[in-house]
Amino acid sequence: MRKHLRTTLPLALAAMFHATFVGADHRPLTIWVFPHDELADISDEQLHQDYFANWLAEMREIKDVPIEIHFRRQAPGLTDLAYREMDSLSALSAWSDATGAWRRQQNNPGAMARYLLLTRDPLDQEGTTLGLAHQTGKTAIASIHSYATPGHELGHTLSATHEASEVLFNGWFCETYMFPTRLSIRSNCYRYSDSNRENIATYLKRLQH
Ligand SMILES: [Zn+2]
Repeated sequence: MRKHLRTTLPLALAAMFHATFVGADHRPLTIWVFPHDELADISDEQLHQDYFANWLAEMREIKDVPIEIHFRRQAPGLTDLAYREMDSLSALSAWSDATGAWRRQQNNPGAMARYLLLTRDPLDQEGTTLGLAHQTGKTAIASIHSYATPGHELGHTLSATHEASEVLFNGWFCETYMFPTRLSIRSNCYRYSDSNRENIATYLKRLQH
């Protein structure tokens, strides 16, 4: 037994160091997007183009982290979440429970993963809650009501804040992703403010090490 230990231990340690070394800076940020069953009429390609292409370009500006976006459809217990029957906080909590169960089932614990439910409608009757996320949490819900909402909610999960958002002017006024209230007269900047870019870059660096 002793002999066995002595011979295997250095190997095991070496393997561990190797994994840590190789893993650093190469671990992708994985965004699991679950389009709600009610979005069956919009293809993944269309959703990607309308809601994620600009966000991906912005993320590439912020930090050199590979980002993978995976779409998952028709997952019972997930893509059929009855969010209309709940208030927005209950919906987010139900979504977090559902993705937690899915993650364990898939053996997919990654610290570098985010789980986003895309819905057709806002999360309240008044139509003012376009999405919801826990600050630096793994889960978020975004309606497709505004093109900037997925970027806004994913921003929350990556430590960006409303307080650091801005209205910019480049020929016309635009709102950065984290601006809390959408004003339709202004356009989307499809970028984060400089201080939110810093928040996200610092946070991703910490996640990777
Ligand atoms: Zn927000």
